[in-house]
Amino acid sequence: MKTLVVLLDGVGDLVSDELGEKTPLEYAYTPNLDRIASLGETGMMVPYHLGIPVGTDFAHYLLLGYPEEKFPGRSIIEALAHGVPLNKNHIYMVTSWASVIKTEDYEIQTRYLMDLPKEDSLELSMTIPASFNSSQFNWQFTTDGHGLLEIAGENLSTEISDPDAIYPLGCVLQSEPYNTQDHRAKTTSDLINSFMKEMYHRLKDHPINIKRKKQGMEPANFLLPKWAGKPGRLPSFHEENGMRGEIIGASTSIRGIAQLFKMRYTPYQYFEEGVKKALSSPYEYIHLHTKDTDQAGHTKDPFAKVKVLEKIDPLLAPILDYALNEDILLIVTGDHTTPSIGPMIHSGDPVPIAFLGKHLRTDDVRCFNERSCAKGSIRMTGKDFIPIILNFHSKSLFHHFRVGGRKSKYLPDKFNKL
Ligand SMILES: [Zn+2]
Repeated sequence: MKTLVVLLDGVGDLVSDELGEKTPLEYAYTPNLDRIASLGETGMMVPYHLGIPVGTDFAHYLLLGYPEEKFPGRSIIEALAHGVPLNKNHIYMVTSWASVIKTEDYEIQTRYLMDLPKEDSLELSMTIPASFNSSQFNWQFTTDGHGLLEIAGENLSTEISDPDAIYPLGCVLQSEPYNTQDHRAKTTSDLINSFMKEMYHRLKDHPINIKRKKQGMEPANFLLPKWAGKPGRLPSFHEENGMRGEIIGASTSIRGIAQLFKMRYTPYQYFEEGVKKALSSPYEYIHLHTKDTDQAGHTKDPFAKVKVLEKIDPLLAPILDYALNEDILLIVTGDHTTPSIGPMIHSGDPVPIAFLGKHLRTDDVRCFNERSCAKGSIRMTGKDFIPIILNFHSKSLFHHFRVGGRKSKYLPDKFNKL
């Protein structure tokens, strides 16, 4: 039993004037993707709910078979991606060194300073108080202008809103209890609000910022936090889904996702190398991921996405050959839609999906794109992904059958005998 997934991050898109009312997938010359669609069973997948945009982390969390209510938060995935040790009783937030102008508000000039060298980042971090308002703070550098803030204390909660809205709202937002009346959320948001003000006070005249201003650069005078999260215990991918899984990827967030589910993570430098690694993988579930499609969408140039798709497509030829000659299930899809037009970062549209394997109900779809696959036979959400794979391999457990003391999607190979 083997499943090979080609995950084109953010591959879904919208039609644009530039491409003559086509989506990048419709416009691009992609004979291999089209062949997979024409030989396989196709359809559309709603990553979460129709109309609700999701990020790669949450979309993958659902795709890989985990319940939404146990999602630990993006900060935990970031921490795992960067090898930050986690304490189950502490709260973690992703932070960025930002530049603000203090008026009545803290007006954001730059959300994160890409030009801040790591050594300056570390130097500025020395101003973070180890102890503040009865809580302990510890900060670690992760990448570029970003870091991870660990907070330890009594009565803390992750149910708080983000001071960094990401959307260009122009100013730092107040942290507030999020969807809860819990007093711990109020305690935590008050703590974060006081901490941000204290940090501004400590950073505004820091020698690094005086130097940056003299050099005509923006001062790194604000530590902007978001995505409060707490590590929880999640079963491994193997335990949850009954398959030994490997993720082959080239981005830090995907490495964090592999760590979260205790899957093997194999990095690649070039996609061709990733394809080779996927073809020789001994794992039962192989997830070959590329971020290039998503990044091309973020440029807001539909032609950039077309170019990336046309670069990836020929590299999929050996995967198609392999799927036609071996008894495996090949799946090609995306985790969400990254529109290459309009203001949305990601959008809540469904993505095309194609399954290629023995005994599937092949449909009449001939091309791998949003509108062709919409004529295919499958309608599914991200949560259906693992059950469909287990079903294909005849590993699904009949609903309502209680085998062993824990609800399972698959027939467990270990059980207690009387
Ligand atoms: Zn994206």
